[in-house]
Amino acid sequence: MTNELKGKIAIVTGASRGIGRGIAIELAKKGATIIGIFTQNTDMAEKTRAEIEALGAKVKFYQCDVSSQADVEKTSNLILNEFETVDILVNNAGVHQHLRSWELGIEDWQKVIDINLTGTFMVAKAFIPHMRSKKMGKIINISSCVAYTGTDHEVHYAASKAGVIGLTKSLALELAGDGINVNAIAPGYIETDMVVFDSEEDRGRTIETIPKLRLGQPSDIGKAVVFLATSDSDYITGEILHVNGGLLMA
Ligand code: NAP
Repeated sequence: MTNELKGKIAIVTGASRGIGRGIAIELAKKGATIIGIFTQNTDMAEKTRAEIEALGAKVKFYQCDVSSQADVEKTSNLILNEFETVDILVNNAGVHQHLRSWELGIEDWQKVIDINLTGTFMVAKAFIPHMRSKKMGKIINISSCVAYTGTDHEVHYAASKAGVIGLTKSLALELAGDGINVNAIAPGYIETDMVVFDSEEDRGRTIETIPKLRLGQPSDIGKAVVFLATSDSDYITGEILHVNGGLLMA
């Protein structure tokens, strides 16, 4: 554990598993206190909480559906009452759904947009007044490389992630003068529950398309988040950092 983020309070949404877990662990290794958000997987949240605690970091998890305005308002108030300050916000919670445009209903579209895009906005909005009053803050949103490439099996997901990029750049413009940096990360294929292959052959074929010849790991995204969360990136805002093993050079 090193100390670049000692004394910093970091919120990570979707921290129970996958990329969010990797982000929370990398931030904790740099000394940050972790506030994790999850929505339903209590067992995984508790497992990740215990792992972070074992690293010597302070950590607390809250159950909150980021697509529910009532949940976000309640949880952000609880967090600000208990921790009094928030320095880093990572909007990572997200869902996807493998459906073609002609198969998905408007309720499928709405659910993915509500969680991935509106949820990102609502959680950011909940902490922006506090960050503005303190004239500091790092907001890091998790987009996806499909925001750039499109995808032939989940238009709602790609649209939500492209929306996250517009949101990131616009918040960066609004908040730069308040000392708040807003950036996004666009991951490629990262090995989590979200990335499922039909067969080992399918997995192998995918890996062959990646110049670095491996799938990304949650820690790869976590390390990029650490960079965007520390003072090393103070002059970077409104930027999209591509972490994809060379899969897409946007
Ligand atoms: P994952 O393994 O499925 O984990 C999703 C996380 O989001 C879980 O912690 C889940 O909580 C949480 N979550 C889902 N819906 C939520 C809601 N309504 N409110 C609060 N939390 C919610 O996914 P992942 O692969 O780690 O993906 C994390 C982020 O990276 C997503 O935004 C995803 O779009 C993006 N991304 C992933 C990849 C990839 O290759 N994996 C590539 C590009 C972008 P529970 O455990 O409680 O369900």
